[in-house]
Amino acid sequence: MTFATLGLIEPLLRALETLGYQTPTPVQAQAIPAVLAGRDLMAAAQTGTGKTAGFALPLLQLLTMEGPKVAANSARALILCPTRELAEQVHASVAEYAQHLPLTTYAVYGGVSINPQMMKLRKGVDILVATPGRLIDLFRQNALKLNQLQTLVLDEADRMLDLGFSEELANIYRMLPKKRQTLLFSATFSDDIRLLAGQMLNDPLSIEVSPRNVAANTVQQWVVPVDKKRKPELFVHLMRKGRWKQVLVFAKTRNGVDALVDKLQGLGINADGIHGDKPQATRQRALDRFKASEVQILVATDVAARGLDIEDLPLVVNFDLPIVAEDYIHRIGRTGRAGNPGEAISLVCADEVNMLSAIEMLTRQTLTRKMEPDFVPEHRVPDTDASGQVVKKPKKPKKPKTSGGGGKRNLGKWVDSGDVAPVEPSIKPVRKVPVFNTGPRKKK
Ligand code: AMP
Repeated sequence: MTFATLGLIEPLLRALETLGYQTPTPVQAQAIPAVLAGRDLMAAAQTGTGKTAGFALPLLQLLTMEGPKVAANSARALILCPTRELAEQVHASVAEYAQHLPLTTYAVYGGVSINPQMMKLRKGVDILVATPGRLIDLFRQNALKLNQLQTLVLDEADRMLDLGFSEELANIYRMLPKKRQTLLFSATFSDDIRLLAGQMLNDPLSIEVSPRNVAANTVQQWVVPVDKKRKPELFVHLMRKGRWKQVLVFAKTRNGVDALVDKLQGLGINADGIHGDKPQATRQRALDRFKASEVQILVATDVAARGLDIEDLPLVVNFDLPIVAEDYIHRIGRTGRAGNPGEAISLVCADEVNMLSAIEMLTRQTLTRKMEPDFVPEHRVPDTDASGQVVKKPKKPKKPKTSGGGGKRNLGKWVDSGDVAPVEPSIKPVRKVPVFNTGPRKKK
């Protein structure tokens, strides 16, 4: 199959040739004809599967072939993304695909001045890529009207809900024309996403190019058990031992990012960090330098790193496991992209056992553990498996104080080693229920 057989027009084929895309990926093969036929779409695709081109190529074609010229302060297509970085990245891809078309594209997001964005929107843009908060600001300030909108794309919709954008999405939904095409893309599909899809989409075609909630199979994954306080030391040890060249590291909190970056820089290691507290320009610079291999180790929180496409990234390290199990799939999806091999290593301490269990249950696999001889934890990480069970080793029973007593045995506190009660994972993915079918909500 070729892009030509999918019915794409010549200017798009020319752009793809320049980019070296020869064969459509599975999500592209399914999405392109469906979008060209005007269908709504609900697509589950792993990160790195080429989903951006899957919606952008047919969208560009429809905008070129159909519909009126864009009016002032208007957009004909809107692509909503959860983060600024993803908005920039999606916009860059769309602009590349559109290079031979007479269409205008633009990206708007928060964290930067709104005035240049308002100026740019005056003439209208054919495709607007936006994060939800800034889009609403622009709409409320009358810098943007949406009555000309033909197509809405929700990219990484699950992430938008995880980040608490359900209220913003409900507001945007009320701003949209009823008659439109809607395409929903999500790496993972939770029940909330299905609910959202039920309200936003009209008779959607469902596309699922990979099994639900399965990590990319080109990524080799393993876990190194370690005591919490020794994680930085283990990280440096593994880095030197494995001669790591370019690593994206995930830490749970902003403070965690800063502390690890300080530690690494203190050792003379070329590291930088990105998280939501840093200004957009600083984040972008750190990312650009990492992509250009000028920074060796980039430490990030989930919010900052979502959706980033870094060519040939060989290794992702989870310095901390994510609280939301689905984030594990997104994190490790930064490597092993477009069929390349990749590695994902997680440093796991005893406190994180429930998160590990939730990840194994979600990805339906038991992650291989590799002990590092000098770092065997004092606080053992209990055994886990894909069934979601955390097997706590029974404590050694205390000897009865009185000889021949044994009365306490009958209280049921003694446990045979072969009869251990499973412990339910207490960490569940944080879900924000979309507000589409509920009454008015209190402001956060
Ligand atoms: P995405 O999942 O949209 O983030 O795309 C992942 C990577 O795959 C990006 O670097 C794209 O440029 C690349 N890509 C997308 N489609 C194709 C294709 N058909 N052939 C080769 N590379 C592709």
